[in-house]
Amino acid sequence: MPEFDVVIRHGTVATASDVFVSDVGIRGGVVVALGRGLGAGAREIDATGKLVLPGGVDSHTHIEEPRAGPTLNADSFATGSASAAVGGTTTVIGFARQAHGGSIKQSVAEHLARAARSRIDYSFHMILTDPRPEILTEELPRLVAEGHRSFKIFLTYEGARITDTQALDVMAAARKLGALVCIHAEHHELIAFHTRALLAAGLTLPKHHAWAKPMVVERECVHRVCAMAEALDVPIQVFHVSGGESAEEVERAQKRGLKVWGETCTQYLVFTADDLDRPDFEGAKYLCSPAPRSKADQAALWEMIRRGVIQNVTSDHSPTRFDGPDGKTVFGRDAPFSVLPNGVPGLAVRMPILFSEGVVKGRINLPTFVSLTATHAAKLFGLHPRKGTIAVGSDADIAIWDPERRVTITQKLVQDGNDHTPYEGIEVTGWPETVLVRGVAVVDASVVIGAEGHGEFLPRGPYEMIKPRGVFPGVFNPVDQVAL
Ligand SMILES: [Zn+2]
Repeated sequence: MPEFDVVIRHGTVATASDVFVSDVGIRGGVVVALGRGLGAGAREIDATGKLVLPGGVDSHTHIEEPRAGPTLNADSFATGSASAAVGGTTTVIGFARQAHGGSIKQSVAEHLARAARSRIDYSFHMILTDPRPEILTEELPRLVAEGHRSFKIFLTYEGARITDTQALDVMAAARKLGALVCIHAEHHELIAFHTRALLAAGLTLPKHHAWAKPMVVERECVHRVCAMAEALDVPIQVFHVSGGESAEEVERAQKRGLKVWGETCTQYLVFTADDLDRPDFEGAKYLCSPAPRSKADQAALWEMIRRGVIQNVTSDHSPTRFDGPDGKTVFGRDAPFSVLPNGVPGLAVRMPILFSEGVVKGRINLPTFVSLTATHAAKLFGLHPRKGTIAVGSDADIAIWDPERRVTITQKLVQDGNDHTPYEGIEVTGWPETVLVRGVAVVDASVVIGAEGHGEFLPRGPYEMIKPRGVFPGVFNPVDQVAL
């Protein structure tokens, strides 16, 4: 009778703090032993010359989310989770989105049903588009208690955005309930003004999307949400920081001691506004918000990663097909940028691109890579130490990487439900070969073998990292006084 279900032998294990050669012994889906010369496993995996890394935690993914309008999210949880796994990610945090006038409780129930097909583990942020009093005081307390411990708010996008007044109410509710607020921060009216002017001038191409939202619209709003978070003493994460100026606002807030965290996404490290200018409407494939920026912004983001200001890199996976009745071309190839669906896919490529551009090119070391792609997100969203590390007692969510394998990214390889990847043709060094979720192989020899429904919902209880500081700018605590 073997001592372990699985033993991974002779690999180089990396966590967010250490790199060491060790066997990994797994029993009952959990890591139960680390060390040399472990006893026999029912399954033995030889990882000589390979890296044994924690499975990725992608804390910003749009999978099988319903949308208004003719375009569709191209993924089901079956395809989205396959794509995540093939790129080394074993946990995704997606979004249950409240319909305007609707119930968030109902959205969560519907999304749980959709996510039941996932091959990897999952949790949700709750998108609040209509934070009415009964939502804040009746639905949210119950949902947070059930483990949905983060809220997402949009300050732009018609139909999704909320006002600053509503955002303050959501922040106050989060503080009372012990939840984290994640924010899409762009100055809505400024984008609308730019858009009106561009359309009036006949400047309607995909590349003009970036003109409609220059960095100032993001920088101003990041500054504003940091001020709101400071005034209410509420921890926040700023989503998709796209370049130097908004990262500087995050850094300023951190230097004042605030619990403000910044996330960036793969696309902001790879694409620039020039990609929106690709011919034959191909630029639409790169259209996302905030808009891709400049080479200088990419360099600034890497610098902010090195300085620890940006601690999380996600995919913001948001797949829309290019062709067909639900794709980016549905309104025709001369449609103005202002009606095009936003978002790029990227679940599978997030970790390989970060590894290749970061570790292989010497911008970051291996523990920083692990932290950026797994450990920090697990900590920030209350999943650590169950997820995001390799330690005795942690879930055996492990990706075994060939650090030298050269791979050219293609749509076929990423295995999502889309018909294209904007990363097509990009060559990377390093690719995951075997991926385990709770000790069960979901990817073997880079082929997805994980069953639909293997994934489990991850409820998130209260945790220290997002406790308010107990410090207000003045002597008065405004949050405890307001009845929501
Ligand atoms: Zn997003």
